[in-house]
Amino acid sequence: MQIVPRSQILTLSDHYYNKVLAESILSTDQEKVETVQRVGKRIAEAAGKVLADSGRRNQIKSYQWEFIVIENDKMVNAFGLPDGKVVLFTGMFRYIRDESELAVVIGHEVAHIIAGHSNERMSRGLSNSSGNDAVICYAKRIEKETEIQNICKYNAGTLTCHEKKVNAETEVQQNCSYPRRTQFSKLILLQEYEADRIGLILMAKAGFDPNAAIHFWQKMKKREGNRNVGFLSNHPDSASRIADFKLYIPEALSYYQMSEN
Ligand SMILES: [Zn+2]
Repeated sequence: MQIVPRSQILTLSDHYYNKVLAESILSTDQEKVETVQRVGKRIAEAAGKVLADSGRRNQIKSYQWEFIVIENDKMVNAFGLPDGKVVLFTGMFRYIRDESELAVVIGHEVAHIIAGHSNERMSRGLSNSSGNDAVICYAKRIEKETEIQNICKYNAGTLTCHEKKVNAETEVQQNCSYPRRTQFSKLILLQEYEADRIGLILMAKAGFDPNAAIHFWQKMKKREGNRNVGFLSNHPDSASRIADFKLYIPEALSYYQMSEN
């Protein structure tokens, strides 16, 4: 279900991106930046082919692919925005050994984007504070603030304006903490597995060995329990996803062998 108008999603995603940029420093590590752009370009091209092959050619032009590296060694995280921006924090590179492992991360984020996962979550009124969903949380907050401003203007109801603001803030915070509701976590899990599977196909079609996904997630598994690892915070546990990857590796390998790597 994707019912939120794309224009609305793009406006919010733009605001969010500008906010992140204003609070961050772009990486000046040319090697990292160029590698991310190079791998990203190949994954984006593979995404274009997948969309074309599945009769969704029109969708291709809705993305302006951009791959950005933000300097923050403490942030082991990455996120994608609905317009095609993929952001990686430098902390992620502690777990990335080579281009194939980088393709696992980028493939996963690009998969979320082309599958329209943000819209699905927004359409269900669900939100989440981490990774690629931060934009949804941000949208919720803006929506609530506008609502309160309107109510306060006419001073309606029995609660004071201050109480309304506190209640709304609590509501947004609760909605944005993971996992909030069963249906919320169920949808997130489904989307995560879907992004893993599509991401695996994208990386393979782009000429990266899909086996790298297993190696990468085995490293991530060792980090589980460490709350600072943002990339794990809204994801299924690594053991289940490694098992899931193994199911899809044979299909992905056939694409990898056909790719022009
Ligand atoms: Zn994800």
